[in-house]
Amino acid sequence: MADIESVPNGENNGTPVRCRFCGQLNQTRADMVGSAKCGRCRLPLTGVPHKKFAELDKDSYIHPADSRALATLRAIPGIDTAVKKLLSVTGESAIRVIFTASAVRVTPKQCPDLYAKLQVACTTLGVDMPELFVQQSPMVNAFTGGVERPVIVLYSGLLERLTDEEVLAVVAHEVGHIHAEHVLYLTVAHLLEALANVAIAAAPVASLVAQILSTTMRSALLAWSRRAELSCDRAALLVTQDADVIGRTMMKLCGGTFASKVDYEQFLVQARDFQKNYDERALDRFWADIITSGLSHPFPVWRTSEILKWVESDQYGRLMNGAPEIAAA
Ligand SMILES: [Zn+2]
Ligand SMILES: [Zn+2]
Repeated sequence: MADIESVPNGENNGTPVRCRFCGQLNQTRADMVGSAKCGRCRLPLTGVPHKKFAELDKDSYIHPADSRALATLRAIPGIDTAVKKLLSVTGESAIRVIFTASAVRVTPKQCPDLYAKLQVACTTLGVDMPELFVQQSPMVNAFTGGVERPVIVLYSGLLERLTDEEVLAVVAHEVGHIHAEHVLYLTVAHLLEALANVAIAAAPVASLVAQILSTTMRSALLAWSRRAELSCDRAALLVTQDADVIGRTMMKLCGGTFASKVDYEQFLVQARDFQKNYDERALDRFWADIITSGLSHPFPVWRTSEILKWVESDQYGRLMNGAPEIAAA
């Protein structure tokens, strides 16, 4: 794919095409529309309009499993006090210092196409721009943390494996966590997950967490955080506006480096089979099994099946056809 934004006016009989995602005016040749990428955000240039949501209500897309688990979590006496106490000890400034010291901060001049993708996700969902960092790691992953000011971190392994549209899907998922007001609890859940993986090295922090958060609080936080993913996949779909982009991203999360050899159509068959074979009750038990066993592998298959279901729902149809539109930045 060629970057043709730099082709000056008047050469190649250029036709100006405005990027549907970021609004950049690109100079393209007539024979290249359809295969060209925007020179700013690197997303594909097509004539299809892109919807931006002026006032998106989180309740219009939050997954019911997320709402239920959140209600259970909030019903635990003292949970908010405990979470705030823990974060005041571990500290938001610590999060920012760690990433400012060890990761690349994305700005309009540093990885500008990533910055443009973050802007696309934020303008589409109506969220203030958070800070975005890229950290060296072979894992295909990303996360959002913070207390007052959220920070999004993308692992370099993800950028190496995903296409530009798939990177937008991941960024949009993370911006979804901010829009859905997940960040506070999510930061604690990440901390619990991190401690599970580096238990010995982090023993002092682990004992602190154990003092502040009861076992009930810890398991309810983890149970909720898995389900919160389903809501943010929906937010990602509201930004990519293409369920296959989400599906392919999930396939790569599942298959890792092996994903280039995996057949996407067969992956969709697997996701549909998954949905068919598990009713809601069984899924709830399955969630519990995942959390207790620490297994995450079947997770992307489930997430794909949930997105395939939602893209056909009236709720998604209403959001895409009913809510007011605002112009691209
Ligand atoms: Zn663009
Ligand atoms: Zn997430």
